[in-house]
Amino acid sequence: MKCTNDEGVLKLKHGSYGYFIGCTNFPKCKTTINSKEFIKNILSKEGVNIYCWKRECWKCKETTPVYAYLINYQLSKYIKEFEQFGDLFGPDHSSEDEITTWMLANIPSIKKMYSKTVGAKYPANTCVNCGVLQGAFMIFSEPDSLFCILGDHLEDMVWKNISYNEIFK
Ligand SMILES: [Zn+2]
Ligand SMILES: [Zn+2]
Repeated sequence: MKCTNDEGVLKLKHGSYGYFIGCTNFPKCKTTINSKEFIKNILSKEGVNIYCWKRECWKCKETTPVYAYLINYQLSKYIKEFEQFGDLFGPDHSSEDEITTWMLANIPSIKKMYSKTVGAKYPANTCVNCGVLQGAFMIFSEPDSLFCILGDHLEDMVWKNISYNEIFK
């Protein structure tokens, strides 16, 4: 994405106050965008993509759908560096964000499950056939994570596009 002020390119940077979006011509150009604002603007415009793909349940061997969202992937279309910050906007095992809350309320196979590995309950995909946990959350920490499986086919895996206002109430 081009800088609003000159010919520079806007990049995601990490400074002493956390993440921010700044121009490649810094310090000549001091244009910055608050990354929270940026995320809000993009998601208000684009909505949040929920991705779905099918995998074989490790327990019953039947096929089950699993769901994920990848905000950073959506944002990386505008600012490439978002790709590299997989956990900048995403769930971890201790917190629950608005998108996760939406998924828990709207997708029956996403449930709060106890994981021995994690030692706590957290929202997870479960098998639609036998109910077992399909792995740590939907996305990042799995060896067979969404990124590895889908690669460039992610766009074909959009299950639903949810408007910003429906999720961030
Ligand atoms: Zn600039
Ligand atoms: Zn199963």
